[in-house]
Amino acid sequence: AKQDGRGVYRFFEAQMGAAVREKRLLENDLRAAIARNELTLVFQPQVGVASGEVTGFEALVRWTHPVRGEVSPSVFIPIAEESGLILAIGDWVMREACTEAATWTNRLPVAVNVSPVQLHAADFLANLEAILAQTGLAPGQLEIEITETALIRDLARTIATLDRVKALGVRVAMDDFGTGYSSLANLRAFAFDKIKVDQSFIRSVDHSDQSAAIVRAVLGLGSGLKLPVVAEGVERLEELEFLRAEACAEVQGYFFSRPAPIADFAAITSGRDRF
Ligand code: C2E
Ligand code: CA
Ligand code: CA
Ligand code: CA
Repeated sequence: AKQDGRGVYRFFEAQMGAAVREKRLLENDLRAAIARNELTLVFQPQVGVASGEVTGFEALVRWTHPVRGEVSPSVFIPIAEESGLILAIGDWVMREACTEAATWTNRLPVAVNVSPVQLHAADFLANLEAILAQTGLAPGQLEIEITETALIRDLARTIATLDRVKALGVRVAMDDFGTGYSSLANLRAFAFDKIKVDQSFIRSVDHSDQSAAIVRAVLGLGSGLKLPVVAEGVERLEELEFLRAEACAEVQGYFFSRPAPIADFAAITSGRDRF
């Protein structure tokens, strides 16, 4: 029995070792990819429900690994956050997204995801200001999306940083609303400009009473706080119809478009087309 126990332990140890090695391999490849400038950005339109027009774009990072192919950001962003590589990635994403949006003749806003690690870095604000100055993007054309995990650590300092971001004229959206700790307290702690309801609530909104009640409540919260609410992950007409009936202002999701290279949206960004 003693031997069995040790065998089981060795098995788990080997499994864990493999997971750690796998992570380290990806981390090294990611470091090389950053150095070789192999990351790219795709953009997903946000759409006004009443007008049907594009109201902005969210920038999303992509990594095509030379051997593994496309690696999902939900796999490599956590590795980047653990290893500190997120600082280089975050800077690159911000610079690239601002450079791109500065060329849009219709001046639509661009939304950029900012990792908590990046937000807490000492030079976050200086980098942001430098990028705005260098790209010439109007701060009002930029929105950063942060998740509630950014507010867990050092709340006072985080809010001070976010206040300075807003003072620059950059808007701040709360991403994945409803999935974190103390979502309501966080709404009171900082004057967010927008709430993005997490896609898990939208997914079943037309056939789950629970999801429908939650989405209605968030929309009510938004109207009470005078905050626009964006519904993420809209895939089906039924979901859109529910959101329209509940007076949700903006939507985003595969129903309208998957994230794609910005060239695919040239008719929109150049002002020739609205969708
Ligand atoms: P997120 O910020 O919540 O982004 C939305 C995710 O939902 C994106 O996945 C998008 O492609 C996907 N999505 C959009 N519409 C639909 C839909 O209708 N159905 C479904 N099933 N999915 C939809 P993606 O691009 O794989 O990114 C995953 C997460 O990785 C993001 O979640 C964000 O947390 C993170 N991420 C992506 N790009 C960046 C980045 O540049 N910086 C940072 N810090 N994080 C990023
Ligand atoms: Ca986001
Ligand atoms: Ca989200
Ligand atoms: Ca998310």
